[in-house]
Amino acid sequence: MKKKEKNKNDVDKELEAYCAEYMDFLSKGKTERRCYAEAVRLLEARGFKNLDAVKTFKPGDRVYRGYHGKTLFAAIAGKDPVLSGIRVVGGHTDAPRLDLKPRPLYEKNGITYFDTHIYGGIKKFQWLVMPLALYGTVVKKDGSKIEVAIGDAPGDPVLMISDVLPHFGKEQQEKPVKDAVAAEDMDVIAGLGPVDDILRDKYCIEKDDLLSAELEIVPAGAPREVGLDRSMIAAYGHDDRVCAYAGLSALMDLAGKTPVKTCAVVLCDKEEIGSVGASGMASSFFENTVAELIDRQSGNARDIDVRRALERSTMLSADVCAASDPHFPDADSIGNAAKMGGGPCAIKYTGAASKSGASDARAEFVAEVRRIMDDAKIDWQMGELGRAEKGGGGTIAKFMARFGMDVIDFGTPLFNMHAPWELASRHDCLHTKKAYAAYFNAPKRA
Ligand code: MN
Ligand code: MN
Repeated sequence: MKKKEKNKNDVDKELEAYCAEYMDFLSKGKTERRCYAEAVRLLEARGFKNLDAVKTFKPGDRVYRGYHGKTLFAAIAGKDPVLSGIRVVGGHTDAPRLDLKPRPLYEKNGITYFDTHIYGGIKKFQWLVMPLALYGTVVKKDGSKIEVAIGDAPGDPVLMISDVLPHFGKEQQEKPVKDAVAAEDMDVIAGLGPVDDILRDKYCIEKDDLLSAELEIVPAGAPREVGLDRSMIAAYGHDDRVCAYAGLSALMDLAGKTPVKTCAVVLCDKEEIGSVGASGMASSFFENTVAELIDRQSGNARDIDVRRALERSTMLSADVCAASDPHFPDADSIGNAAKMGGGPCAIKYTGAASKSGASDARAEFVAEVRRIMDDAKIDWQMGELGRAEKGGGGTIAKFMARFGMDVIDFGTPLFNMHAPWELASRHDCLHTKKAYAAYFNAPKRA
């Protein structure tokens, strides 16, 4: 039978279905730990096994490996051995937020506050006067854990940071925006009186347990569709759950099939603070995991084999980029800025000013990516990070390029990146997933 072109109804249905599952993932994954838990749940439902529990990694086998309950690797074994290189889509699941300090509770004029420490790059004023939720994990001395999630369940209270009223805010309004509120004053009202009893009675948390806790203040509320045409999604944490989920979803669609090359996704932590720490991509997590895979295939992961596999691998560094915002043209590299709704964007190099700190993909690999995307009819675009000398950035590409592999940034354009509510185009969300699927399904490299 002749294959019919997909009609508009099918396209709409595909968009609806994908965006609904992505929004559901966002609602459940307000922190990196929760993204990890939800991703593991989804993977296990599709037959992925914990790598610790398997002895072999044969073509078609599905495995995952976790690190510290935050960073996750999942893979499907290809027909070719891991030694010949793997295809990786790597995104991150941490997002800018306010972390509670180890001794967060203090009182001022009878009001109890949570003292916070900023995690990631934010515009501080955006986080005032909005409903906030408290999520995280408290670990007791005996190792037992208490999961905290306050602010999103029906009937839950929310938290808030107050601001001065305009009537008396003249001095504040005359300050540069960055100085309008001090980082040390980004403290969240916990109650109009002591909350120790509430923490103990309702949540079984003693004050000292907060010393060994990871509690995050994030925007309260579920993702929403935006625009009369419902063309966008407003959500906390698109950066970078939009790419991380797209990669995960593309990999899960391969369950039951055997790709040519081993296909993998990484959902990593700590990108927003420089990928440092044990759960960041600057750690040995990735190479150790590749060694584990080779060990399952050959029973002997020689150091040279691990190095060869890494060098022969390729990666789409799956992170968001800035969409050109007509109201802020000064941030754009005119003619090289990603368009909102124009599909996922490939960024050849990031960095700042004179490509400082950049991972610059070689033209040969860019050509390969062009061919893969065009052959699969992906709606994609090519852009730069932003206007030269206006700032800059970078993501996990450089930590993977360190192994000698080809890497390019490739992800979804956003408006108001790092704001409590970020905006993404629904079309771009779907095509990001389609792009990653095209990469996984592409024929062998020439
Ligand atoms: Mn990012
Ligand atoms: Mn970011």
